[in-house]
Amino acid sequence: MPHEVMKDIYLIRVPLPGNPLKNLNTYLIKGAERSLLIDTGFNIDSCHEALIEGIAALGVSLDDLDIFLTHVHSDHTGLIGRLKTEKNRIFISSTDLLVLDRFRSALRWKDIEEQSIKYGFSEEEIHENRSTNPFKNYLPPKNLEIEPIEEGFIFKIAGYNLVAISTPGHTPGHMVLYDEAFGILIAGDHIIFDISPNITRWSELQDSLGDYLNSLDKIFKLHVRTTLSAHRNPNGDVRERITELKEHHMLRLDEALAIIKTEPGLTTYEIAARMTWSIRAKNWIEFPLTQKWFAVGEAGAHLDHLIQGGLIEEYEENSKLKYK
Ligand SMILES: [Zn+2]
Repeated sequence: MPHEVMKDIYLIRVPLPGNPLKNLNTYLIKGAERSLLIDTGFNIDSCHEALIEGIAALGVSLDDLDIFLTHVHSDHTGLIGRLKTEKNRIFISSTDLLVLDRFRSALRWKDIEEQSIKYGFSEEEIHENRSTNPFKNYLPPKNLEIEPIEEGFIFKIAGYNLVAISTPGHTPGHMVLYDEAFGILIAGDHIIFDISPNITRWSELQDSLGDYLNSLDKIFKLHVRTTLSAHRNPNGDVRERITELKEHHMLRLDEALAIIKTEPGLTTYEIAARMTWSIRAKNWIEFPLTQKWFAVGEAGAHLDHLIQGGLIEEYEENSKLKYK
């Protein structure tokens, strides 16, 4: 059932079955005429049912409900095909709209697979990932009318002025919404309190971790009193959390650098296998493939940042990318 977290802002928790994120926190801001939903859940029936039940409990019709997507990931965008009517509008950053179009093309996944081989995945793992990757399989359908927005776009609803702010890093076009007068930050996956947001390699970004750290600094300067995040516990002290997240990435950078200095010539996959991860598996071999996928992407983002800082070098050997 929806829970009012601020005046006219309701939290609807959408379960993400089988996913370590557990739930997506969607927010519905109820206005006198039009309302705004932030994020949706995967394109699967159980997410759809939970969300529709929440929207109905608030007495809002889909025709009067516009949708803002903080970013392209399918746990945020998946259901838009089932929520779109003739009368409502869907918004996302222009950057992530391009990424969404690419995600829905077979060519993009072929590129990702070729890159993944270079990072050190085996052909078998690539094959298995085709059927298990939730971000690939739960995307919304093509040919929906989605409106691209830029930083500075304002959603005026229920007395709030929510300004879209670009926070690239978690995805190339991630955006948060900020109401200065009320000090509200709708943070998407940019800032999460109980887990650290996944930072991975993107073909659109040279240094996604560098972008992410800059985006954290950008939010640190705001006067946030209430943070509403997209996963787990939605609230916390945003500046304290930003400091923790930056420290977390500094430690990860140190760890990756130490591995490369001790053992030069490893692939991203091999470096990821040597890093410490907070998941319940005894060792790297026992990691579920999806988690390996995230770990390798995350390790790669740290390697790219070390390259940008001139601390390590990348080179190709036997069709694999290696680091020294
Ligand atoms: Zn995400």
